[in-house]
Amino acid sequence: IDVRERYVKDKKVGEGTYAVVYVGHLRHDPSSLVAIKKIKVNAEYKDGLAMDAVREVKYLQELKHPNVIALHDVFSSKDQNLSLVLEFLPGGDLEMLIKDSDIHYGVADIKAWMGMLARGVWWCHENFVLHRDIKPNNLLIAADGEVKLADFGLARSFADPLFNMTHQVITRWYRPPELLYGARQYSGAVDVWSMGMVFAELLIRVPFVAGNTDLDQTSKICEAFGTPTEENWPGVSKLPYYIATDKAHLVPLQGRDFFMRQFPTAGPVGADLLMSMCALDPRKRSTAVQCLRHNWWTIEPRPTKNEDLPRKS
Ligand code: ADP
Repeated sequence: IDVRERYVKDKKVGEGTYAVVYVGHLRHDPSSLVAIKKIKVNAEYKDGLAMDAVREVKYLQELKHPNVIALHDVFSSKDQNLSLVLEFLPGGDLEMLIKDSDIHYGVADIKAWMGMLARGVWWCHENFVLHRDIKPNNLLIAADGEVKLADFGLARSFADPLFNMTHQVITRWYRPPELLYGARQYSGAVDVWSMGMVFAELLIRVPFVAGNTDLDQTSKICEAFGTPTEENWPGVSKLPYYIATDKAHLVPLQGRDFFMRQFPTAGPVGADLLMSMCALDPRKRSTAVQCLRHNWWTIEPRPTKNEDLPRKS
């Protein structure tokens, strides 16, 4: 039968900038909950192009991992909008936990959440998929406390470009310097930078580098971590939007002591892991697998068990 017929939409559970989300279930099994995300496809993409979108997103269905949201199905609806049938994740997202001042959490909880994030990212990269939009609001939580990487940027490229721009505003704080400089070839290192920004934000409970514009974001990154130069990042000056800083205003690259001072709760080993995720030169940044091999995961405290993690009220 038609994929569209396999699911029943129950009620609307949320609306984002470019999609409406419903809870639904498998027609033959009312107990099997799913989330149906209907993407508002830009008019230009309609008339058949939604079918291309379906094909493009289909391979995400193969990406099965406990820390990556399951994509059960993709279809284009009668009105040519794109619908994704996703694993239903009722536990909210990491942004809600960070912002809720009634929720108290510590470094063992952060270690558990970051571990799940790092494993999800590792699995994507292992399968040649970049997420490209990692931020606390895209890290959804399952009923059992498991953190799952959601909202792959791919689907969004078919949404309305105007919505797209407003969406980028939210994403800017997690964007790595190579993208801010307009690099057109990039790697898994973009996701590792974003992962570092999430780590920092979990520790201090506010976004670590929160620029008001792309230019402001770049200068705040320079102020915080140091100014990229040909010496510390060979090739950076050739990137399209790179602006040279005069010698008087150069900020030296920050070392271990900076990360230890800024993030005391991480401890020296945690600060070292964070520093390795925040290397300006993407080639010097840790890869996801290097992050997972870091000593921080094995030293005390042990990561909190899922059932003991703080959850949304
Ligand atoms: P945004 O990223 O702007 O929050 P989304 O379109 O991704 O927007 O989602 C809108 C809302 O729908 C979310 O805030 C969340 O409450 C809900 N939602 C999204 N995906 C799921 C899911 N897989 N399971 C349960 N609820 C979801």
